[in-house]
Amino acid sequence: MIELSPTATEDEVAAATERWLHENLPPSWLKAVLDDDRTVVAAHLADADGMRRWFATLGDAGLATPTWPREYGGLDLSAEQAAAVADVLMRYRANRPMDDFIGLTLTGPTVLAHGTPEQKERYLRPIARGEERWCQLFSEPGAGSDLAALSTRAVRQEDGTWRVDGQKVWNSFAHIADRGLLMARTSPEKPKHHGISYFLVDMRTPGLEVRPLKQMTGDAEFNEVFLTDVVLPADALLGEVDGGWAVAITTLMQERNGLSGRPAVGPGVADDLARRAAAAGTWADPVLRDRLLAMLVEERVLQMTTVRASVASGRAMAGAEGSIRKLVSSGLEETAGSLAAEVEPVTALGWPQGAPLPAAAYEFLAMKQTSIAGGTSEIQRTIIAERLLGLPKDPDPEKDLPFSQRSRA
Ligand SMILES: Cc1cc2nc3c(=O)[nH]c(=O)nc-3n(C[C@H](O)[C@H](O)[C@H](O)COP(=O)(O)OP(=O)(O)OC[C@H]3O[C@@H](n4cnc5c(N)ncnc54)[C@H](O)[C@@H]3O)c2cc1C
Repeated sequence: MIELSPTATEDEVAAATERWLHENLPPSWLKAVLDDDRTVVAAHLADADGMRRWFATLGDAGLATPTWPREYGGLDLSAEQAAAVADVLMRYRANRPMDDFIGLTLTGPTVLAHGTPEQKERYLRPIARGEERWCQLFSEPGAGSDLAALSTRAVRQEDGTWRVDGQKVWNSFAHIADRGLLMARTSPEKPKHHGISYFLVDMRTPGLEVRPLKQMTGDAEFNEVFLTDVVLPADALLGEVDGGWAVAITTLMQERNGLSGRPAVGPGVADDLARRAAAAGTWADPVLRDRLLAMLVEERVLQMTTVRASVASGRAMAGAEGSIRKLVSSGLEETAGSLAAEVEPVTALGWPQGAPLPAAAYEFLAMKQTSIAGGTSEIQRTIIAERLLGLPKDPDPEKDLPFSQRSRA
């Protein structure tokens, strides 16, 4: 495990991480990064066995999960110190991929907050070492923004196991995941938020079927997941029976924060677009230049707000401030997607048949993702209105009715 003082400044953390990478990255990878040899770096990233070994090394050093407690594979670092680690890892292309987002950002903190000692022991280290990948089985065809309307059923059997039946949808990485975070209704006779439980599921359990969904970018990162007579062991339950909503709030806040950027101020997406505009010759267009600079300013303001939120009275970033950051960062992603198409209009509009999508076309087609995932922008506005501005709550006349008696159940 890397040695760092808990009071180390961000610069000291970054320097220690960089030193550690120089000592531990495979020499040909390190040389390729320092020489900016993208072909060799890409070859390392494509080597599945090599990457598995690398993730284990990174995890054993505590650098994959720096904010987690040391006993579970972390370094007890603050959010800003962890951001310094993440920036260095990204520079060396040595960080964990987006496929691991759910395990690292959602499962870890949720299990740390609500898990039994046995669950923490069982699930956390394999995430830190990149041995197990997770997915999130929350949304359903009839429950997205109104997640508490979910109808997948979990029934406790005499032997203490749970039988689960239902359907989930939009489940990122479910086709490559080892485990899933599952919400299911355990007490339909209770009001909708009070009869839900939260489970940790082995994705290889019989009766669980994953069907990929193709997106307009050409990716099939999403899935539908069907659960038919799936039997889960008693210790799959995370938190209390019928207490799943409180557990889910932890996950959803982590998701909101995780999708809104790291607490660090520096070159971001707008800087990259400006560089690309200079290379493509579109920087000469004064209107486009003006819009790129407006985005750059907004991105820096978001970064500074994120740093401020992370240090404010030592509390974790959470609550309605997270909604503001998610709303702004989703808006920035949409702006970036449409600007990308204007920065590189030629590549965004035409490419050889069968060739992969050029970056600008991909960014344009994917620009709406974050404004839907992890709670839509409309829902974030409602949270801000109710919790920060104190406006009256969205009326739900059936909120306290048993779920089974709701007209929309
Ligand atoms: C890239 C991506 C990844 C995702 N990954 C996962 C995942 O891994 N696991 C998972 O479980 N889910 C995942 N989702 C699903 C996501 O959580 C839902 O799509 C989202 O919560 C919205 O739900 P919905 O699609 O059912 O839309 P709906 O809730 O039906 O909303 C449709 C529209 O109505 C608006 N609307 C709904 N209710 C209100 C209201 N009360 N006030 C104002 N407007 C409202 C919404 O803002 C939206 O514009 C992912 C989605 C995306 C885009």
